[in-house]
Amino acid sequence: MTMTTNIILLGPPGAGKGTQARRLVEERGLVQLSTGDMLREARSSNSEMGKVVADVMDKGQLVTDEIVIGLIREKLETTEAPGFIFDGFPRTLAQADALGDLLTGMGQQIDVVIEMQVDDAALVDRISGRFTCGNCGEVYHDTTRPTEKPGVCDVCGSTDLKRRADDNAESLKTRLLEYYKKTSPLIGYYYAQGRLQSLNGLADIEEVAGRMGQIVDAAVSA
Ligand code: ADP
Ligand code: ADP
Ligand code: ZN
Repeated sequence: MTMTTNIILLGPPGAGKGTQARRLVEERGLVQLSTGDMLREARSSNSEMGKVVADVMDKGQLVTDEIVIGLIREKLETTEAPGFIFDGFPRTLAQADALGDLLTGMGQQIDVVIEMQVDDAALVDRISGRFTCGNCGEVYHDTTRPTEKPGVCDVCGSTDLKRRADDNAESLKTRLLEYYKKTSPLIGYYYAQGRLQSLNGLADIEEVAGRMGQIVDAAVSA
């Protein structure tokens, strides 16, 4: 069996999953699978599925398991990678079971699930200050991670910096409720499988990255 490393980043909206996933891509050559990004792509393509998901996403609710599992299945079937970072997936127990089955079918497994713990007050600040580069996807924050030059992406120089339609207080309330009701049970699910590691997501970006690196190294050599 070939050696692959598959990592799930688990945490509420704004915990820092996307930020850290991008670093793991840079540092370890893993492939980031963000269902949020896939769904935003689907909605901008104006397809039938796109129209359905746009409304659900803007309200802050979860898109159906069927749609999301379909997107992940397609990516796993068509992507060669030394491993995947699942960012924002799975978000329900049904999605977690489906992912386990898909990986088993490929002779692979989840190596480690990293839970990023951040309290709700910090999440409001994180979400309300978030903006991203429309060209390369780099994630920024008004105060904790501003661009070096105002209005210009540090990574690619694009001036197409944008805020997400669902990054508002109203939608965040729903997204947090969805997280606690439907996603947080995954903490127990993966703990019971012996795969869970938790870290303090309130630390600064560099500190979180360092801790995450240690966890991934330990999981890979285990
Ligand atoms: P998620 O993918 O979990 O929703 P993001 O990675 O998009 O979270 O981060 C949410 C916001 O918080 C972004 O604006 C990001 O720049 C900022 N951020 C991420 N990690 C940290 C951190 N450790 N400390 C402070 N701000 C952070
Ligand atoms: P955040 O990390 O800030 O919550 P994401 O980009 O991961 O944002 O997700 C944005 C929205 O996309 C979610 O609020 C939800 O509507 C939808 N979504 C993303 N991933 C999933 C998933 N695995 N299952 C169901 N809905 C999802
Ligand atoms: Zn950019």
